[in-house]
Amino acid sequence: MTALKQTCAALLRDKNFIQHTWCDARDGRRMDVIDPASGETIGSVPDSGAADALAAVDAAQAVFPAWAARPAAERARLLKRWHALILSNQEALGSLISLEQGKPLKEGIGEVLYGAAYVDWFAAEATRGYGDIIPEAVPGRKMMVLKEPVGVVAAITPWNFPLAMIARKIAPALAAGCTVIAKPAEDTPLTALALVWLAGQAGFPEGVLNIVTASRERAPEVVDVWLADSRVRKITFTGSTPVGKHLARESAGTLKRLSLELGGNAPFIVFDDADLDAAVDGLMASKFRNGGQTCVCPNRIYVQDGVHDDFVSRLSKQVAALAVGPATHPDSQIGPMINARAVEKIERHVKDAVRLGARVMVGGERVRNAVADGPNYYLPTVLTQATPEMALSCEETFGPVAPVFRFHTEQDVIAQANDTPFGLAAYFYSNDVRRIWRVAQALETGIVGINEGAIAAEAAPFGGVKESGYGREGSRYGLDDYTQTKYLCQGNLG
Ligand code: ADP
Repeated sequence: MTALKQTCAALLRDKNFIQHTWCDARDGRRMDVIDPASGETIGSVPDSGAADALAAVDAAQAVFPAWAARPAAERARLLKRWHALILSNQEALGSLISLEQGKPLKEGIGEVLYGAAYVDWFAAEATRGYGDIIPEAVPGRKMMVLKEPVGVVAAITPWNFPLAMIARKIAPALAAGCTVIAKPAEDTPLTALALVWLAGQAGFPEGVLNIVTASRERAPEVVDVWLADSRVRKITFTGSTPVGKHLARESAGTLKRLSLELGGNAPFIVFDDADLDAAVDGLMASKFRNGGQTCVCPNRIYVQDGVHDDFVSRLSKQVAALAVGPATHPDSQIGPMINARAVEKIERHVKDAVRLGARVMVGGERVRNAVADGPNYYLPTVLTQATPEMALSCEETFGPVAPVFRFHTEQDVIAQANDTPFGLAAYFYSNDVRRIWRVAQALETGIVGINEGAIAAEAAPFGGVKESGYGREGSRYGLDDYTQTKYLCQGNLG
């Protein structure tokens, strides 16, 4: 922890940022930030409440008209400056991510580059918020369409990608001309504060970007203020489906716009005709990134009869070789889980699966040794004989557990893959061109990886269907979520 803390020391901020001022919670309350690897306290930040939430809205609303009126090219220039600062601080930011979230340092720095790419992308998109001129229907009457920023945007983010999740919400909001109030996850507030500090250095005007931190207990108090306030015109949220549904319900009173990127339960399908090496590599990359704590992680792995045993044996070999340890250890590939609650859920899923007949091929338990010396480590795990009755088939495990289901026919596997309320990502491996189109169209998800495990990119639309939410982040569609359409009709021109 000390080495990481030294590398990021210059970026550590421990206050809220409201109206361009670093401030404590109005009632002075604070909360600790915990290192998930050791369980030790890293530092503390404000445990904010309703008064702080309100101050953030006041600041963001006051500056909104002026910010929205700025030329798009100016907003783009500021985003580019922010992007450059993020890149020049990539090692420090990567260390900070690893320190409070636990992912191996290489992944921490990878996340900085990934998040920065969204800032760069939306700097360019800022200048492309085109409207339309509609062909004249009546002589002497012009019809035009403008894209306008929606207003104050509240961004609520999770802990698994402490930098990327907040960057990919703030960047399009600012690009569109919205102002932002943000609340990062309670487990990982320091990265968000550092990112906002860099935005301040980039020169964003007073009040355009505000952030308040809060504990899990007090998060509802902060967010309820935003939900009730009619000046907040949009909520953008990444997190669990129950909280997403709560936000949708409670924002109905003021009919806010919503972007909800919620839980997933991604199927990963390997057909008999797949390239098995590519499928195993794809699964390793998509399943075990961030210790299996990503919303697009494969949660259910379906392998067809003909290649099942071969696939399981290749997969088990690679999973058994994964090194578990803290971000600071140069060999670590799997870090600690974020907290005790997360490890308990993984343990519950594995125990339930074993009780219902699953076979443990690799792992299947917690680990504590000289390298992985902390409370939150879980061994990378492969299970076979998984069935739909098991909890891990219905809920996101959010950990390094790969349950393998055997299947017989394409029709069966599509039915099983779609038999979930969720619809974020799906993956499949096949070399049959007709099957590729059939399956890609039949899967009920917002994202489909075809012979590919790494699907996220700033140029692509990220988001789900069904109870995985709505709205898209990134890509040329990403700006639309932060704009509203205004139709102008000018008559008597003839
Ligand atoms: P996870 O289970 O991954 O922590 P959550 O949906 O609980 O996912 O958390 C995602 C974000 O939502 C975090 O910033 C968290 O503080 C916030 N949050 C959690 N519960 C509530 C709530 N009742 N109201 C508003 N925000 C909440």
